[in-house]
Amino acid sequence: MTRTVYVNGDYLPETEAKVSIFDRGFLMADAVYEVTSVLGGKLIDFEGHAVRLKRSLDELDMAEPCTKDELLEIHRKLVELNDIDEGLVYLQVTRGSDGDRDFVFPSEDTKPTIVLFTQNKPGLADSAAAKVGAKIISIEDIRWGRRDIKTVQLLYPSMGKMMAKKAGADDAWMIEDGHVTEGTSNNAYFVKDGVIVTRPLSNDILHGITRKAVLRMAEEAQLKVEERLFTIDEAKAADEAFTTSASAFVMPVVEIDGVALGDGTPGPIAKRLREIYLEESIKAAV
Ligand code: PMP
Repeated sequence: MTRTVYVNGDYLPETEAKVSIFDRGFLMADAVYEVTSVLGGKLIDFEGHAVRLKRSLDELDMAEPCTKDELLEIHRKLVELNDIDEGLVYLQVTRGSDGDRDFVFPSEDTKPTIVLFTQNKPGLADSAAAKVGAKIISIEDIRWGRRDIKTVQLLYPSMGKMMAKKAGADDAWMIEDGHVTEGTSNNAYFVKDGVIVTRPLSNDILHGITRKAVLRMAEEAQLKVEERLFTIDEAKAADEAFTTSASAFVMPVVEIDGVALGDGTPGPIAKRLREIYLEESIKAAV
């Protein structure tokens, strides 16, 4: 089936959707994005993604392409037109183009570009990968210093994923100044003696929408959470570990740099948090 996508006000077959070659998203990665999951045909934590999008745009002095209500309507319409039961909605906003290439931002009346498309992912919630758990490697974090802004500068995270694949693993956690920052496309946690440890929010990591929800749910479930810096050696010596993201929810981690955690299968806290997260988020989906 040809997807119907959204570009600057129009719903079009994907083969007819076009963006200028002078678009600053294409030339300069001058763009931000969001990925919202869909379960049972409904959007998971749309509000969180809309709020973070506004924050990313504000941090970059980029114009808002439309209102939050319009954004919700576009998301819902694409889910319906593409008959998505389980999957993702990808949204990208760029600073647009005034028809040439220049380091200086184009004039303020330049319209931002907005593009949305769906990805059909049957079995997203009942994921085979989550039952096995992920193997990760650690790599140096050489990304720019504003990782709290969700920009499309994803070359290094993409390279990190490829380094992991080459090493026979599933993903990579990044390390800066001796401490784990986050995964290539997720936030990172370990559990030791019943305490969940994760890095505190700062400019060094993306403020995950799933992170926020999972930490709230963990506290509601009387689990102990410590937001602090941690080393990869602490994580390797942990009872269990996991990651969170809008596209994989809570993903157990079973191996770090070749060292098995616990008995090498998904840990009880990660499994429980995945269940709680899915149950609660599906209830609140719009
Ligand atoms: N960190 C990074 C670097 C990411 O790319 C992502 C997912 N885009 C996350 C964390 C998780 O954020 P969220 O829960 O909002 O998907």
